[in-house]
Amino acid sequence: MEKYRVTIYNEFVHEKKNEFVKKLYPKGMHEAIGDYMKKEPGFSVNYATLDMPDHGLTQEVLDNTDVLMWWGHVAHGQVKDEIVDRVQTRILQGMGLIVMHSGHMSKIFRRMMGTSCGLCWREAAERERLWVVNPNHQITQGLGAYIELPNVEMYGEVFDIPEPDELLFISWFEGGEVFRSGCVWHRGRGKIFYFRPGHETFPIFYNKDVLKVLANGVRWAKFAGNTEARGVIECPNVKEPLEKLSPKDYKMGEIEHPKA
Ligand code: ZN
Repeated sequence: MEKYRVTIYNEFVHEKKNEFVKKLYPKGMHEAIGDYMKKEPGFSVNYATLDMPDHGLTQEVLDNTDVLMWWGHVAHGQVKDEIVDRVQTRILQGMGLIVMHSGHMSKIFRRMMGTSCGLCWREAAERERLWVVNPNHQITQGLGAYIELPNVEMYGEVFDIPEPDELLFISWFEGGEVFRSGCVWHRGRGKIFYFRPGHETFPIFYNKDVLKVLANGVRWAKFAGNTEARGVIECPNVKEPLEKLSPKDYKMGEIEHPKA
C-alpha cells in the first residue's frame, strides 16, 4: 500500500488563548484534521506547532515528511526565517505543501509564490459555495458539483497570487464576492495546494467534504516525479558535450563561479 507521511503544522495559538476557539477545537485544529487523516489508508500523521523546538520542523522531521500541511494566522511573524528556508528547500526537493485558509499570509506561502498573497475579507458568518471547476482533478474526486458551508469568513478577490497551474474551486459568498478557493502550483520538484476553508471560530475542520479534499490533496501532493531530473535545485556544469564541438577561434577569459 502507498504510504503518505503527513506533518500538520498549526501555530496553535488561538486554541490556547481564546475560550470560544478552545471549545470548538479542544486539541487544536491540527488534531481535528489529523484525526481524519489517520483513518485514510496508508496515512501516518505527525504534528508540529510554533512552540516546539524549530516549530516541530527539524531537518529530520522534514526529511521524513511527504506532505506538509500549514495552518497559521496570528503568529506568522514568529516563524523563524531559517525554518522557512529549510521548508522551502524540502519543497524544491519534492515535499508537497498544503496551505489552508489564513496560511495565505504565511512566510512559506509568500516565499513560494513570490507575490504579496493579499486578499479582502469579512467576518460575518455568511454562506459560502465552493464550486468545483475542475471535476477531473485528483483533488476534487468524491465531491458533488459544489461544497456548501453555512457559516464562514469571506475571502474575496483580488487574491494576489501567481496564475495557478490549475484552478480547482471558485467560491461564491452570500455577500456577493467570489474567490479562487482551490489552486495548485509546481515549484521545483514540489507540488503546492492552497485551499481556502478553515477559520478558527467555525467548525470547518469537522466538515467531511473539506477533510476529503485535504486528504485528496495529500495523495496528489506526494512526490511522484523524476529524482534524477537535471537542473532542478542544482546547476551542474556539463563539461562534456554530447557531440564533438568544432574548434573555436576564441580565447575565453577565466571567470569565477559561485561555490555550491
Ligand atoms: Zn480566518
